[in-house]
Amino acid sequence: MKTDIEIAQEAVMEPVGKVAEKLGIPEDALEFYGRYKAKLSDEFLDSLRDRPEGKLILVTAINPTPAGEGKTTTSVGLGQAFGRLGKKAVIALREPSLGPCFGIKGGAAGGGYAQVVPMEELNLHFTGDFHAITSANNLLAALLDNHIQQGNELQIDTRQIVWKRCLDMNDRVLRNIVVGLGNRTDGFVREDHFVITVASEIMAVLCLAEDMQDLKKRLARIIVAYNYAGEPVTAGDLQATGAMAALLKDALKPNLIQTLEHTPALVHGGPFANIAHGCNSVRATRTALKMADFCITEAGFGADLGAEKFFDIKCRMAGLKPDAAVLVATIRALKYNGGVAKADLNRENLEALKKGIENLEKHIENLQKYGVPVVVALNAFVTDTEAETEYVRGFCEERQCEFALSEVWEKGGEGGIALAQKVLETLEQKESHFQVLYEDTLPLADKIHRVATEIYGAESVNFSAAARSQLKKLTELGFGHLPVCMAKNQYSFSDNPKLLGRPRNFELTVREVYVSAGAGFVVVLTGDVVTMPGLSRKPAAYGIDVSDDGVITGLF
Ligand code: ADP
Ligand code: MG
Repeated sequence: MKTDIEIAQEAVMEPVGKVAEKLGIPEDALEFYGRYKAKLSDEFLDSLRDRPEGKLILVTAINPTPAGEGKTTTSVGLGQAFGRLGKKAVIALREPSLGPCFGIKGGAAGGGYAQVVPMEELNLHFTGDFHAITSANNLLAALLDNHIQQGNELQIDTRQIVWKRCLDMNDRVLRNIVVGLGNRTDGFVREDHFVITVASEIMAVLCLAEDMQDLKKRLARIIVAYNYAGEPVTAGDLQATGAMAALLKDALKPNLIQTLEHTPALVHGGPFANIAHGCNSVRATRTALKMADFCITEAGFGADLGAEKFFDIKCRMAGLKPDAAVLVATIRALKYNGGVAKADLNRENLEALKKGIENLEKHIENLQKYGVPVVVALNAFVTDTEAETEYVRGFCEERQCEFALSEVWEKGGEGGIALAQKVLETLEQKESHFQVLYEDTLPLADKIHRVATEIYGAESVNFSAAARSQLKKLTELGFGHLPVCMAKNQYSFSDNPKLLGRPRNFELTVREVYVSAGAGFVVVLTGDVVTMPGLSRKPAAYGIDVSDDGVITGLF
């Protein structure tokens, strides 16, 4: 079996101009980054404004094993299959972060014969968007510390600085640092922190911004600290907005690349799926909808986090209406949810499958609560047995839920035709009655309670004393109308990653709450969330190399 990178390097790509042609994008709308990558110009995006929109298909998943269940692979393969059926489809995905590339997960371009290319460039630097975001983030940090150094007119309380520096690297020693050491001219000494770039609020802001005007408004609202009176100090107060926006001018433009089968893909933005909403940019999704009949997009983590935030944050803010959801399941993840150890997932085990399938059941019910038709895509692994596959098929059909086996990893677009046909049929026959889970006007604590009980299946929510007072303060500051952005482990519906399957009668503990005022949501932390990951004992970086003639190996 070839590795992902070997398959990607064998691909014969089309020049990106040719990929654009399929969508009727004129050459002068493209800003080229080499032969195979281009950004779409602002003028072109403006020119699409009055066009009708195609169908929006969300790809989401059940609670995963630590290896990931193939959402990106399925998204890409489904797009390729649409292409084979002669349908005009665009895939809209997130940009990968360098952190996981050198850590354990590897790249994020899909897998097997369902990938977007150029894979190495996408995974490393790409069009520089993350560099721009990192720079904008750190400009704000520099302006903040300089303001304090120059007399602190805004009366910033250095014990209440919430803005953090960022870097696109897994580097745990930067989690908690001291800045300003030295003498008088080196600034005030204080504790500081780094987050990974994808966890920067700037990333979430860029992904939710409609255009430059909206981007600036959001940047200006970002809260960097509180003053001695406890009032928020914003990026706007620090006069940082214009310069940050200038740094982000090109990063705001969606990037066009292609799949192994030349399906157009817009890969743009990549916010964390825990403390942020985990979806590619609104601009890319909207552009895809305007250019094609079908837009296939992915949300990070399982549907309890990814789909919930896609619906309740991204769709709510951008006024998007999803037409269908593809729920990716794997036999191995269902068995994992049924209690099988990671090492034994490749062996047939119908008993564990029957137990773990409760997890799929709950996700189907949840997606139906949003009024969106669901197609279960069973992402086939070579180790799956026929008895196992048939059991999952029967389970879905008994629940009037569409089912298709997806073999895109092994066979590319050809292996996704059954899924594509099922999705097309669903779009024709089942109307979406999309609705968000809660109204803007619902108090913050009730929004959290609604997500916890309706989506996670919790019995109750336990707010820590700190969370309670933060909720009160945020409501007083006028943030009560914002949606909530839940940060929870991705393995369980509950806040305990060991409670797999479909946990019942549990209490969800809310530890801390804060506002991302620029992004426009209130972040709700359950359990510990790491915003600056570390590297493992044997990081993937050890296996990555480049030959004398520039061929990269070991990225997967
Ligand atoms: P997600 O987007 O859900 O995190 P990915 O699509 O990135 O998952 O896939 C995670 C990893 O699993 C990738 O390395 C991919 O190559 C691999 N993978 C996905 N589907 C299959 C499959 N059917 N068989 C074998 N490996 C797969
Ligand atoms: Mg993915």
